[in-house]
Amino acid sequence: MSLYNKDLLKLPAKLLTMKKQFYSVFVLAMVIKSVSGQAKHEDTEFYTPVPPVVTPVSANTAAPPKDAVILFDGKNLDNWVTTNDTTKPATWDVSDGILTVNKTGGNIQTKQSFQDYQLHLEWRIPKNITGTGQARGNSGLFLASIGKGDAGYELQILDSYNNPTYVNGQAGSIYKQFAPLVNPNFPPGEWQSYDIAWKAPRFKEDGSVLTPARVTVYFNGILVQNNVELKGPTLYVGQPSYQKHNPANPIKLQAHGDKSEPISFRNIWIRPA
Ligand code: MG
Repeated sequence: MSLYNKDLLKLPAKLLTMKKQFYSVFVLAMVIKSVSGQAKHEDTEFYTPVPPVVTPVSANTAAPPKDAVILFDGKNLDNWVTTNDTTKPATWDVSDGILTVNKTGGNIQTKQSFQDYQLHLEWRIPKNITGTGQARGNSGLFLASIGKGDAGYELQILDSYNNPTYVNGQAGSIYKQFAPLVNPNFPPGEWQSYDIAWKAPRFKEDGSVLTPARVTVYFNGILVQNNVELKGPTLYVGQPSYQKHNPANPIKLQAHGDKSEPISFRNIWIRPA
């Protein structure tokens, strides 16, 4: 047998070794990808810098301007429907002029859609609130509801009076995008106010963003979001991004699934701008 032929005989074994090596490298690469590449909810939760506490003087509880559209006047939920089935009325509790979350009733949203606007809302964490972090008085105001469940742009509502959590998830945050500039929470049991200027996003024909959403928020009369440019609708896991949608949408309130006592609302009005 010539040298040439001997080498030829060794070739299949060599090829098999190469195949094995390639396979090992491939499996390793897949393992690394699955460990490092999978988005986790913790990836978008930040704990510093902690917004300084500012004690507010008073919540804004002024009566609505004459041209405001009254979304909740203390009497009924005629202007609202159940988010997950908009043919059904909203089933949250209304009594003594106050709206209280029905946690089994799901999110509720306005029948009417709004584009750019000024909005006022008052909310109260019950005095007997229990739980910690995100499981303590969690609700939310969706500045535009763009679908079922929590689809949309959430301004977080939470008991953030001596209740640490990730700063871009505390009260006054644009959830998982912008922490509030300061922490002006009142203690549980007291009424608090949000006053908001919202500019809806606009999209081009081809679906790309023409102008992103912008929002300014006053919390108990104190500026907590100063004309921030949103990165897209709220996401619990992963990085937000825009998908073309109608700029006019309903306003939505969140029935969060945590076990803490339900929170209440009153005096909700809006002025298209
Ligand atoms: Mg929430």
